[in-house]
Amino acid sequence: MPVSPADGEDLAREVGRIYQDAEAGLLERLARLLAEGIGLPNWAERKLRALGDLRAAVAQTTEALRRDADGAIRAAIGEAYRRGDRAAVADLMLPEGQRAAALRDLPNAHAVDRLADAAVDEQQPVYRRILRAVPDAYRQIVARVSGGVLLGTQTRRQAAQRALDQLAARGVPGFTDRAGRSWEMASYAEMAVRAATGRAAVQGHTDRLRAMGQRLVIVSDAPLECPLCRPWEGKVLTLDEHHPGPQTLTLPHATRDGETVTVHVAGSLAAARAAGLFHPNCRHSVSAFLPGATTRPQSLPHPGGATYEDTQQQRYYERQIRAWKRRQATAMDDDARRAAGARVRAYQARVRELTRDKGLRRKPQREQIHSAR
Ligand SMILES: [Zn+2]
Repeated sequence: MPVSPADGEDLAREVGRIYQDAEAGLLERLARLLAEGIGLPNWAERKLRALGDLRAAVAQTTEALRRDADGAIRAAIGEAYRRGDRAAVADLMLPEGQRAAALRDLPNAHAVDRLADAAVDEQQPVYRRILRAVPDAYRQIVARVSGGVLLGTQTRRQAAQRALDQLAARGVPGFTDRAGRSWEMASYAEMAVRAATGRAAVQGHTDRLRAMGQRLVIVSDAPLECPLCRPWEGKVLTLDEHHPGPQTLTLPHATRDGETVTVHVAGSLAAARAAGLFHPNCRHSVSAFLPGATTRPQSLPHPGGATYEDTQQQRYYERQIRAWKRRQATAMDDDARRAAGARVRAYQARVRELTRDKGLRRKPQREQIHSAR
């Protein structure tokens, strides 16, 4: 059974949902707090007095989020590692007795803890960012709406809604990367956890293969191939990190005693990964390569004719759906809520059309934000 970083995607999505819930709750709280008393002449003053309460509420939500997310991330990493491990045991085609024995223990339980600690640590900046970002956004909206001219109630409401719409379109920021790009909190969390579960699945696989003395793996031929991975498709790689590079080796046949097989080894798995294999959202996998016994994978086109670009288009529509659902959450009145709902449905129709025409699988979970309302 091959292992792929994509094997942990469903687990990461579950974790991402916890962040989406928290984000929707925070946005709704902001919208409610801003709408409250919006017709009163001393609205701005009242809003600034409520800032302390908002800070306390955000701190509480963030602490609950951290607790839930930590547990969910640890569970996801453990499960991804076990999936990789089981895939490796299946690859080795062991006799039943040995197979059962192998599955009793993890090949490297410390590795699971290390991976889980790292994944939990990676989320810490998100919580610090939320604690600052939500009260900041609130203060800015109050300042902008009340700034300078005296506005009537209706225009004040419109100005607040406009500001909330902008916030909803971007989402609550959770992380700024080295390029200075700001990530919406739930997208960042899911992306980071997806990378971590992917690493865990591959690690579980290689740890098991190593423990069983198996050194070679073969890269799959993915139907929706990502350009970065094309040079590695169907290549045999070694788990030996100090491998000198491409080499043709004469190796004992995996199942026939006394026979040898010539195998071209393209390099180490570590080097292939450093060169782009298993990049984020990669669809490729590796499985154990047993000289003479493993047949090379055949390149199969996607049955619906979909390309990698089509899958990226689907991701774009899914992001738009989530953004418009956030705008539903921050709607201050029914008109705004209805208008956002119409945009949600329009993008859903585009996803429906694309997935139907190209034979892609629709992923409803990716189109959700979970409203606390
Ligand atoms: Zn790939």
